[in-house]
Amino acid sequence: MKSLSQLVTHNRFASLPPVFYTRLSAKALPEPYLVHANAEAAALIELDATEFSTPQFLDIFSGNVPLPGGETLASVYSGHQFGVWAGQLGDGRAHLLGEVIGAEGLGWELQLKGSGQTPYSRMGDGRAVLRSSIREYLCSEAMHALGIPTTRALCIVGADLPVFRETTETAAVVTRMSPSFIRFGHFEHFCYTDQHDALRTLADFVIDHYYPAVRDAAQPYLALLREVMQRTARLIAQWQGVGFMHGVMNTDNMSILGLTLDYGPYGFMDAFDGAHICNHSDTHGRYAYYRQPEIAHWNLYALAQALLPLIEDTEAVKAVLNEFPAHFSEAQDEIWRAKLGLRSAQDGDTALMEETLQLLHANHADFTLFFRHLGQLKLADPSVDAPVRDLFIDRAAFDAWAEKYHARLRQEDSCDAARQAAMSAVNPKYVLRNHLVQAAIERAQQKDFSEIDNLLKVLRTPYDEQPESERYAAPPPEGSHIEVSCSS
Ligand code: AMP
Ligand code: MG
Repeated sequence: MKSLSQLVTHNRFASLPPVFYTRLSAKALPEPYLVHANAEAAALIELDATEFSTPQFLDIFSGNVPLPGGETLASVYSGHQFGVWAGQLGDGRAHLLGEVIGAEGLGWELQLKGSGQTPYSRMGDGRAVLRSSIREYLCSEAMHALGIPTTRALCIVGADLPVFRETTETAAVVTRMSPSFIRFGHFEHFCYTDQHDALRTLADFVIDHYYPAVRDAAQPYLALLREVMQRTARLIAQWQGVGFMHGVMNTDNMSILGLTLDYGPYGFMDAFDGAHICNHSDTHGRYAYYRQPEIAHWNLYALAQALLPLIEDTEAVKAVLNEFPAHFSEAQDEIWRAKLGLRSAQDGDTALMEETLQLLHANHADFTLFFRHLGQLKLADPSVDAPVRDLFIDRAAFDAWAEKYHARLRQEDSCDAARQAAMSAVNPKYVLRNHLVQAAIERAQQKDFSEIDNLLKVLRTPYDEQPESERYAAPPPEGSHIEVSCSS
């Protein structure tokens, strides 16, 4: 384990030509204090957790002092927001500190978010509030623990600096970690500004460093598109499987590595509603739960369009895009079969999955609890169904569904013990429900950061029973309604 000064840096993004970014320092954050730091993420860069309590740690991750060996910059990208071309965006409040070589030689970019204005801030103040920083921090770690590809988070540093949103809040800087923060929007930027040499440089950079296997393909840029398409399809199927809604699937929030990126007004499903819109600013429901797969497909079209000057073969590009539904369905079927505890693949499984969701939707049954309880079912003893059955208002509808489900399990001679174990490993007991993160935020706003720590501990092993943390598995209290919007 290393101290901050001993970290080994290798700033590959900063070695790209200057058209990709602006070199600048983060803006100083007055009187910063540590809100939380994450030993698990630190271990990825071989950073000793005892560094968390040093003044140097606070200096660096508040943006007040550069990372030793780093080259601070803000990158430029563009994108489609809510389906509309938005033109140039870019790191308007983020600073890439540099890339650190961590365990097993893997490179991790360290990026501050909320670290002040850049040339890409447009009308924004360059800041982030404590509320949104906690939301990003907790959720990226929760997603990782669920086994879903995501950027990571190292720490949150806060300050009493006021930041004006709907109300006056205080500033914070969250440090994110990712092999790369390159977005679909980076490609769109260089395509739409007719900088096709830079576009090629970017694509080569991504291939060389993150997709080396496609270098040998007959058409490497087309092969890159296919890889991104496949990763994205699988990612969205994983989101659907845990009831995660991103909330702002704009192309500038889509990772070229197929990671979950930019946690804003996201949500985990409580009572299941296929049309649920987690982002209060999304008035037309573009990013509702059930639309996420088609939106991912749409976003891949935008990426493909941006890659066309390099691929120069519209038909080949279309063919790759047309593979998306099959890839998504394959990933989806695999995930939902596992969620239902089915070992074999049989005709009618997709229909059973759809019927299950319709039943949940009609009854507003809690998504997470349903699958978790379902995993306790015993084929020969229907009384064990009680906890899952109790989630339904329409018990007769549940019974009719359960009869089909039992029959399907019997068809493959499903064994209770093995199925229960397999289902517990894929159906989390603990997800970052909005009311949980809200409670942690409200305490943190009173300078009590303990609930962030409590939540992080529970969410580290979301598939374990953790009987002492039972209350974190409960649905939101009756009448609680938390609105989250793009305001962050
Ligand atoms: P987001 O909706 O957070 O993904 O951000 C979309 C774009 O707006 C990105 O270019 C951000 O950098 C920029 N942005 C969001 N909030 C701010 C802010 N407070 N100050 C400057 N830029 C911002
Ligand atoms: Mg964004």
